[in-house]
Amino acid sequence: MAGPLLLRSLFSASSRKSLSSHLVRPPCLSRGFTAGPASAAAAAATDAKVFLEPSRLRNVAVIAHVDHGKTTLMDRLLRQCGADIPHERAMDSISLERERGITIASKVTSISWKENELNMVDTPGHADFGGEVERVVGMVEGAVLVVDAGEGPLAQTKFVLAKALNYGLRPILLLNKVDRPSVSEERCDEVESLVFDLFANLGATEEQLDFPVLYASAKEGWASSTFTKDPPADVKNMSQLLDAIVRHVPPPKANLDAPFQMLVSMMEKDYYLGRILTGRVSSGIIHVGDRIHGLRSKESGVEKIEEGKVVKLMKKKGTNMVLIDSAGAGDIISMAGMASPSIGHTVANTEVMTALPTVVLDPPTISMTFGVNDSPLAGRDGTHLTGGKIGDRLMAEAETNLAINVLPGLSESYEVQGRGELQLGILIENMRREGFELSVSPPKVMYKTENGLKLEPIEEVTIEVNDEHVGLVMEALSHRRAEVADMGPVAGNVGRTRLSLTCPSRGLVGYRSVFSSDTRGTGFMHRAFLTYEKFRGPLGNVRKGVLVCINGLWYNHRSCIDEFRSSWNSFRDSWDGDI
Ligand code: GDP
Repeated sequence: MAGPLLLRSLFSASSRKSLSSHLVRPPCLSRGFTAGPASAAAAAATDAKVFLEPSRLRNVAVIAHVDHGKTTLMDRLLRQCGADIPHERAMDSISLERERGITIASKVTSISWKENELNMVDTPGHADFGGEVERVVGMVEGAVLVVDAGEGPLAQTKFVLAKALNYGLRPILLLNKVDRPSVSEERCDEVESLVFDLFANLGATEEQLDFPVLYASAKEGWASSTFTKDPPADVKNMSQLLDAIVRHVPPPKANLDAPFQMLVSMMEKDYYLGRILTGRVSSGIIHVGDRIHGLRSKESGVEKIEEGKVVKLMKKKGTNMVLIDSAGAGDIISMAGMASPSIGHTVANTEVMTALPTVVLDPPTISMTFGVNDSPLAGRDGTHLTGGKIGDRLMAEAETNLAINVLPGLSESYEVQGRGELQLGILIENMRREGFELSVSPPKVMYKTENGLKLEPIEEVTIEVNDEHVGLVMEALSHRRAEVADMGPVAGNVGRTRLSLTCPSRGLVGYRSVFSSDTRGTGFMHRAFLTYEKFRGPLGNVRKGVLVCINGLWYNHRSCIDEFRSSWNSFRDSWDGDI
C-alpha cells in the first residue's frame, strides 16, 4: 500500500499532468499486474503501472576534492527540490561522517526537477575512499565537478575527474565559493583554464573538453551560468545548475523491452530486510514479487549464486527511503529479497544467463595486520575479543567495501589491505565503537614486482604552506624520496606557496603529524594515489619514532617533543651533578 502512494507523491498534480505525455506504458507491463478494484488504491496502483520514460531520467555523480563544498551543495539541491532536510549535511548519514565533516561512503538520492527525475550520487572527496568513487561512476551518465574557485583543482580533483573521463562522462564544471572576497572573475577564468588543462592532460575527448561552466555559492544557495557575486533575488537559487544537468547530461540508454538486469554497485545490510542491493537497472522492468537470480562471472563462465523473489523495491527520495512497486531500465533503485549476491554481481530475470561487466578498481596500496589483543590489558575495553569475531567483522566489511581486501594470516590475525591510513583508521574506529578489542600493526606499503623490477605506490601530493615553512617541508620530504613537480605562489594569497610533488606512499606514512608541527598547523596537505613506479630507494633521515624516558616520564618522539625539551631543560637546571 505504501508503495503506490509514495510513488504518487513523487509527482505533484501539475507535474503529473504535464508528464502524462512523456510517460510510457511498457509493452510487457501486463506481466506484473492484475486489475485492481475501482478505488483510490486502484488509482494509485494504476499510477504505479506507469513508468518514467528513460529520457526523463538523469543519473549524475557529484565529484570534488575534499572540502570544496560538495556536501553543502547536495543539501542545497535537495532543499531546492522540496526535500525536507532535518539538519545540515543531510547526505552524511554515518555518525563518523558527521563528526569528522567528511564523506566516507557514496550515497544515492533522487530529486524531482520540473518534469525530470534526477538520481544524484554523492561521492567522497578523500583519496583513501577513492574506491567509493570508482564503483559508482559506472551507474551514472554525467558528473558535476565541484572546484573551489579560490583553491583551484587539487590532487583529488584530478583523481575523481580521471575516473569520470575514463567512463566517458561529460562533466559540468561548478566553480564554488564564488562569494569569497578573494575570488574575482579573473581568478575564476584562471581556475577554468587550469581545469581545462587537467581535462586535456587526462586525455579528454573534444566533447568532454567542451564542458559548461557554472559559478556558485553553495553556502548561499545559488548557482549561475555567468559570473556574479550577487545574483538577482529571483534567480538566487540552484535552478540554473539543475537546468544545466537536464540539458547537458544525456539520459540513460536503456531498453525497457529487454529482460531485467542490474549490476549491484552498493550493498547494505538491514536487520529486518537482509541484504539491500543498489544499482542501476541496465535493462527491462522489475516488479515486487518477480523471480530473479544472482549471477557472478568466473573464469570458467557465469555462475548462478542464488534464485529468489523481489520482496521490496525502494528508492531514496531526498533523505527518505520510499517503497515502490516497480522500476524501469535506467533508474537507480534498491531491492531486498536475495541473501547472497554482493557488489559486482548481476541480478537478473531468471531467463538471463549473462553477467554484466564489473568496474575495475585501483589496487590497494597499504596493509595492516589486525589480530587479537594479547597485551596484559586485554579484555578491559571491549566485548568482542576473539579472532573469530574479528575475522567475521572484517570479512563483512570487505563484502560491502570493495576497496578493502582481507586475507587470513597466522594465529588468528588478518591482513587488511586498503588505500590509506585514513581508510583503515576509520575501520578501526568503527570496530572500536562496535565493542571490538584488537591489536593492529603499523601500516606497511604494498610493493609489486613486474619484469623483475620492484615497484612501489607513488602518491601525488599538493601542499600549501606559509613561505617561511617551505624549507622545512622540502627538507623533510626530500628525506622521504619526494620529487617536486611544480612550485609557485598561491594566487590571491600573499605569503603562501603551493608545492606539487610525487612521493612514495611509504614516505608519507606518519608524515601528517610531522607536517602539522613543522607548519605550526597552518599548512594544507592533500594526497591521492598516482601510480606504481620503480622503487625510489631507502628513505633518508626519517625518524620512525623514539620513546624517551626522563625523570621517570615517558615521551613519544615528535608529538611530545616540546614537552620533552622543557622537561629536559628544567631537569638540567635543577640537577647539580654531572650529566
Ligand atoms: P565537502 O568536503 O566537499 O563535502 O565540503 P563541505 O560541503 O563539507 O564544505 C567544506 C567547507 O566549505 C564548509 O565549512 C562549508 O561551510 C564551506 N563552504 C561550502 N560551500 C561554500 C561556499 O559556497 N562559500 C563559502 N564561503 N564556503 C563554502
